Amino acid sequence: MFKNVLNLFYPKVCLGCKTLLLTNENVICTQCRHEIPLTLHHFNPENEAFKKFYGKIPVEFAMAFVYFHKKGIVQELIHNLKYKGHEEIGELVGEWCASEIAGLDFLRNITEIIPVPLHTRKLKERGYNQVTSFGKSLATTLNLKYNEQILVRTIYSKTQTKKNLLNRIDVNNASIFTAKFTSNDHDKHFLLIDDVLTTGSTLEACGKELLKIPGAKLSVLCMAMSH
Ligand SMILES: [Zn+2]
Repeated sequence: MFKNVLNLFYPKVCLGCKTLLLTNENVICTQCRHEIPLTLHHFNPENEAFKKFYGKIPVEFAMAFVYFHKKGIVQELIHNLKYKGHEEIGELVGEWCASEIAGLDFLRNITEIIPVPLHTRKLKERGYNQVTSFGKSLATTLNLKYNEQILVRTIYSKTQTKKNLLNRIDVNNASIFTAKFTSNDHDKHFLLIDDVLTTGSTLEACGKELLKIPGAKLSVLCMAMSH
């Protein structure tokens, strides 16, 4: 009742298409949910996300959950998640993704979920890491540990120049990220997560650091990738 009254004054709109949400809808409307293209990578270990890491770093498994189109629903959702404070999008996509991939073989020996970290200065500016809500809801639904301490970003870069910076710094010698670990972190299978998979160079730089941990295995999961 109270929720309905609240909706009267602050009607909730779909974060994908801005139409009014029905009371049984949450964050995105049913139509948007049906229109979001799933990659179905989880049924194909040799998928296009996995192939991005060929000859670069050894990954056990890699996937993106949905496809990202310019001016599409997913782009709108990622924008709202990243710049408009709508962390509930990450939570929803995390739950959705977890329900699709739960029980699959590749998840069986994963121990921890690790987000691509923001630099502490960027974290202060934005107020949150855009992959946190996604990662935490994945971790809760799949009963895995969410570990945001182990991987640290040591170089600050402005969003616009991020790509250039990554290109300029040889990722083989990258010190953009550092893994801080103890012997308790040995022999783990890390699931590294990010929002959008593009070139894969950020994930590669992170992955290289995680793979320096003795006995480490690595898998990658992104919310979206371009198509
Ligand atoms: Zn919608």
